[in-house]
Amino acid sequence: MGLIRLLPRPGGSPPAPAPEREPEHVERVPEPVVSEPAADPPVDESDSPAPDAGEISAGADPTQAATRVIALANQKGGVAKTTTTLNLGVSFREMGYRVLLVDLDPQGNLTMSQGLNPDAIERSMFDVLVHRVPISEVIEQREADLAVASIDLAGAELALSALIGRERSLEKALAEVRGQYDFILIDTPPSLGLLTINAFVAATGVIVPVQCEYLSLRGLVQLENTLAMVRENLNPHVAVEGIVATMFDGRTLHSREAIEILEENFGDLVYRTRIRKTVRYAEAPVKGSSVLKYDPTGAAAEAYRELAREVVAAKEAQDGAQAREHA
Ligand code: ADP
Ligand code: MG
Repeated sequence: MGLIRLLPRPGGSPPAPAPEREPEHVERVPEPVVSEPAADPPVDESDSPAPDAGEISAGADPTQAATRVIALANQKGGVAKTTTTLNLGVSFREMGYRVLLVDLDPQGNLTMSQGLNPDAIERSMFDVLVHRVPISEVIEQREADLAVASIDLAGAELALSALIGRERSLEKALAEVRGQYDFILIDTPPSLGLLTINAFVAATGVIVPVQCEYLSLRGLVQLENTLAMVRENLNPHVAVEGIVATMFDGRTLHSREAIEILEENFGDLVYRTRIRKTVRYAEAPVKGSSVLKYDPTGAAAEAYRELAREVVAAKEAQDGAQAREHA
């Protein structure tokens, strides 16, 4: 079997078929398909410090960059979507970017991880999506700005399904605030249902966290198939911009093999930064904080800072290549 390009770029060939074989240790559990404008320079001296402000890589001119709306998605639960949304977002904040985090998961883990109780929240993304409440009314200022989720959001898929334009509800809501941010990161539920589709429609790119321990290539193919459908019908520009390996344990052959399989299949889409396994990531949300605030000098925080720099650099490289193509 040759190498498979599972994730075609927009305008590329149609999605490749599922891989002919999966390695022995790759989980085979069938996964539910449905259960679910120009920016100003980043100046914001609010709550979080900006020690890395000088590290915006050479060539980056945030004043010229359009808002990047990134959906963090993987229909598998427990792969670090929420952890990555928060810590990547706070890393961007440290770099001086203006960041909005959107909690689109009815479980409200992102909201909780910033010390808010989703059960006690009056108005949330549910009201934004279903009742067209302006998103600015559900944004809380935490380590980064955060559009909160509440338990109601569980009913959003059903309520939305009856509405015209149900797939564009988030895109429309974000229009109000889009120009105020350099990055909007959307944390999605563990499904490829209407909430995740709303995120894909609103997004300029998708980052897929994958857990090294239970790597599911089939799951990634399903995700790409959904994304291809969104590209065809709703948002021609959206594509997977990167895959981030999480819960990596370099001491185990298993983790190293998972990375090899990812790189064989997805090449450059796999970020060089690996997020190692450490209990710090579970400890921080209990304190209502990111790992950057909880343990600012630790390796866990540094890993997400490194990922943030890589996400910025990868986009610059891609834009540069596109500019040369069109020259
Ligand atoms: P998802 O949003 O995809 O369901 P979470 O971000 O909630 O996943 O992560 C699932 C659990 O794993 C959480 O308890 C989280 O604290 C923990 N976790 C996340 N990343 C790591 C990591 N790199 N090492 C160890 N535990 C992690
Ligand atoms: Mg989550």
